[in-house]
Amino acid sequence: MQKKELLYEGKAKKVYASEDSDVVIVSYKDDATAFDGQKKGTIQGKGAINNRMTNRLMQKLAAAGIPTHYLEELSDRETAVRKVTIVPLEVIVRNIAAGHFSSRYGVEEGLVFDEPVVEFSYKNDDLHDPLVNDDHAVALKLATREEIGAIRAYALRINELLKEIMLAAGVTLVDFKLEFGKTGDDQLVLADEISPDTCRFWDSRTGEKLDKDRFRRDLGGVEDAYQEMQRRILE
Ligand code: 5GP
Repeated sequence: MQKKELLYEGKAKKVYASEDSDVVIVSYKDDATAFDGQKKGTIQGKGAINNRMTNRLMQKLAAAGIPTHYLEELSDRETAVRKVTIVPLEVIVRNIAAGHFSSRYGVEEGLVFDEPVVEFSYKNDDLHDPLVNDDHAVALKLATREEIGAIRAYALRINELLKEIMLAAGVTLVDFKLEFGKTGDDQLVLADEISPDTCRFWDSRTGEKLDKDRFRRDLGGVEDAYQEMQRRILE
């Protein structure tokens, strides 16, 4: 698979065309940003860890019946994926209060929910990704009512599958963000990544944070946390 022209560069990944018009090549970077890009840095080795962890998890989800964009890992940092149009919604699933849920609703981090919470944000940097409900998403034509229903069902199933995988690795899955895309033949598939950049992972025994919150909150040990997640999920 040949890398052709750069199609898009985001905060953590670059996307290249390939010789196949239905396939693009994602290249993961070590660059890290937080707070709408106001905080910038580098997490050594992150690109390779996120690439390989995403691929491993997507393969497990695919085996359990979740359609994904994953096709083939090309190298440590590069993966061939199905070309999709991204649905402009960040789909967040929460099992335990943390981050914006805690600050928005004034509850301490660590409150365990009786049922998972699914949230949607409108992917729009200028508006700072505002929270939207199903009606807002339909009114804004971000997705159809049917697509939102399918996305919610996939997100909850993915939560069950990821919780199980993480539990076996001694990790509590606190929350995570998903993105979905539509293929040329209009199939809804899981896209983007599943990594310590996009999930909150807490050590099940000690509660230690093993994710990007270490970077966001200047907790130190950022690279060590990514490597520890690599060890638990990939080795
Ligand atoms: P929160 O809304 O509390 O900031 O984030 C909830 C979960 O979604 C966290 O696991 C966080 O990593 C993920 N998340 C939410 N928005 C973003 C985003 O814009 N980029 C990344 N990488 N993750 C996000």
